[in-house]
Amino acid sequence: MSEQIEVLLSEEEVDARIRQLGEQISKDYAGKDIYLICILKGASFFACELAKRITVPVFLDFMSVSSYGKSSESSGVVKIVKDLDEPLQGKHVLLVEDIVDTGRTLDYLMKLMKDRGAEDVKLCALLDKPDRRVVDVRADYTGFPIPDEFVVGYGLDYAQKYRNLPYIGIVKV
Ligand code: 5GP
Repeated sequence: MSEQIEVLLSEEEVDARIRQLGEQISKDYAGKDIYLICILKGASFFACELAKRITVPVFLDFMSVSSYGKSSESSGVVKIVKDLDEPLQGKHVLLVEDIVDTGRTLDYLMKLMKDRGAEDVKLCALLDKPDRRVVDVRADYTGFPIPDEFVVGYGLDYAQKYRNLPYIGIVKV
């Protein structure tokens, strides 16, 4: 069965916003190196585009996590499927995520990065669904607040499909 995708944020809108985020982050981190952690797979497109727009030195690392439990909503009990390559001691960590929904995954991950000795940990999310928040997680940098709709594209999937869409769309089943 094929789904209808309604455009929520066009490719031009997303690209322009990423450019702005890159400028802001470059200013805020002036004189520092950024240890940019991309949460796979969803954040991969965003993380690459964002890194290209940052003018201070960026070191890239990747982590893949899955949430325990059967429900479609994240449980907050996070299993690390692929861990980071490097220790975080003394690093300026910028966690890059596709979307903050309940906030459970990011709450866990931000605490984990701090426990591992990062100098500071900031969060940059392309999308934010504030209406869905269960745990008080606030991104330091947010691309777009969006309504409570299931979105795809720019790395986000629906049953592993649509990650390669260059825009953000709403799935109409
Ligand atoms: P949280 O722990 O904040 O509830 O979970 C965030 C994760 O849920 C995201 O990284 C993403 O994988 C998934 N997610 C939440 N909302 C959406 C959505 O609208 N579309 C897609 N494709 N994934 C979502």
